Amino acid sequence: MDQSRKIIHIDMDAFFASVEQRDNPALRSKPVIVGGLPNSRGVVATCSYEARKFGIHSAMPSNIAFKRCPQAVFIRTDMKKYKAVSRQIMQIFHMFTDLVEPLALDEAYLDVTENKFNIKSATIIAKEIKKRIYKETKLTASAGVSYNKFLAKVASGYKKPDGLTVVPPEQALSFIEQIPIGEFFGVGKVTKEKFLNMGIENGKDLRKLSEETLLRVFKERGRLFYQHARGIDNRRVTPNRKRKSLGREITLKENLYLIEDMLPVLQQLAEIVSEKLIQENKMTKCIILKVKFHDFSQQTKRITIEQHTNDAMTIYRHAEQLLKAIQRNKKSVRLLGISTTELAPMRTTREASFETINMYEQLTLF
Ligand SMILES: [Mg+2]
Repeated sequence: MDQSRKIIHIDMDAFFASVEQRDNPALRSKPVIVGGLPNSRGVVATCSYEARKFGIHSAMPSNIAFKRCPQAVFIRTDMKKYKAVSRQIMQIFHMFTDLVEPLALDEAYLDVTENKFNIKSATIIAKEIKKRIYKETKLTASAGVSYNKFLAKVASGYKKPDGLTVVPPEQALSFIEQIPIGEFFGVGKVTKEKFLNMGIENGKDLRKLSEETLLRVFKERGRLFYQHARGIDNRRVTPNRKRKSLGREITLKENLYLIEDMLPVLQQLAEIVSEKLIQENKMTKCIILKVKFHDFSQQTKRITIEQHTNDAMTIYRHAEQLLKAIQRNKKSVRLLGISTTELAPMRTTREASFETINMYEQLTLF
């Protein structure tokens, strides 16, 4: 069994609701429900811990939530806001490793076996990530640390909110024994019922079933249950496929003829593209300008530069040169676009300071 990896699962606490409570102090310590409004056919996306006390949970129809807790504050989902916070936390993860596999806006696996700071202990990295998330977003996250995805994920949900649970290899089997059957990977409502009917309530019970029995009842999934009950999970942390290019186009309010008139638009495009690159922790080596003319014909020109950049001014200067080199045949322009390819990860310039670490911790923590 592979116990050499160090995997962290990070999950923000009551994410959408916490963002709303952060941004509106009047909502703090109140039951807050983000998602569909009470008299709509919507459902609860996230609710605050105060609302959970009333038995409200995600995916519950909002009008049922309203019946259970009429005094709750209902707020419509504001994805734009949550996505911005999501980008902040993903950037923090990428400071430590590029082996980041997001599961949702507020949740990801990280493989930190090897990491950008050569920190041996995944526990220290998890602490540092939680600290940085709080510092930058004023929100709390819970982390689970172990040698595989299954255990890391269960561990992160173990002590919420603001939790940190570490399951080192030598404690895995005893940890698994107490995991409720419903929390095993691949167990939904129906499967849970099936297990309960078989008298299987937790990991300890699950381990008593033979692989043959599990395969017979649950087909291929049975093999996973068999392995997970024994602390075996070899699934890799797989980052989303790398983005190959990144850019933005703007259709002009009116067709333009003079280059001077196009330059402010070009500058705006360069700033947007630069911002996107920085948000994704990327730099580019190739800048492409696209020009669409009034008759919908178009031209593109590209330049490969010597050093990677994500600087708006540099991108703008190159785009300006490309624009001047375009053969226009006196046509007016209706659309301009800048895109970038040959992307590379941005070097971490922010130095990490790990005040929380002392040598003893380094040596003893998983
Ligand atoms: Mg969450």
